[in-house]
Amino acid sequence: MTTYCKNHPQIETSLRCNRCDEPMCTKCSVHTPTGYRCKDCINTQKKIFDTAEWYDYVIGLVTATVLSLIASNIINAISLFAGFFMWFVAIAIAGGAATLIGKITHRFLRGRRSKNLFIISTSGIVLGALPVILTFLFTGSFYPLIWQGIYLFVAVPAVFYSLSGFRIK
Ligand SMILES: [Zn+2]
Ligand SMILES: [Zn+2]
Repeated sequence: MTTYCKNHPQIETSLRCNRCDEPMCTKCSVHTPTGYRCKDCINTQKKIFDTAEWYDYVIGLVTATVLSLIASNIINAISLFAGFFMWFVAIAIAGGAATLIGKITHRFLRGRRSKNLFIISTSGIVLGALPVILTFLFTGSFYPLIWQGIYLFVAVPAVFYSLSGFRIK
């Protein structure tokens, strides 16, 4: 028996969605980590994943900003006496801080999620580092900005991925 795509009745296909089992053509299929799915199933899945309330955006942003402000200041304080080792120290602290900020923010959000929530929470990392960065910009001392740069470079993607559920090792 030949099956036809549920959206394109003129296209023959042997591919089926692994969730709803409807036949679908290659154009209608989406490759997911668990196999091929139709676009309808992907869309319903997305809705389930989008559970954020308006206050979650505030919680996410404030939590990440405050914690990032602390991390940014710690890195700045240590850079005053770490000397050459600051290259390693900055990366290590940035990584540790990002993991911690990701975990704490994730806990405060109680598992509620949406793509915009992750983006807004992550932008708190940049906001939190701004006071230190702006201070150095205005006083014209650019060397300490390197450590803030490293911090953002490491922490921004790490926090985003830890919130959105991807893991980077
Ligand atoms: Zn389906
Ligand atoms: Zn189709």
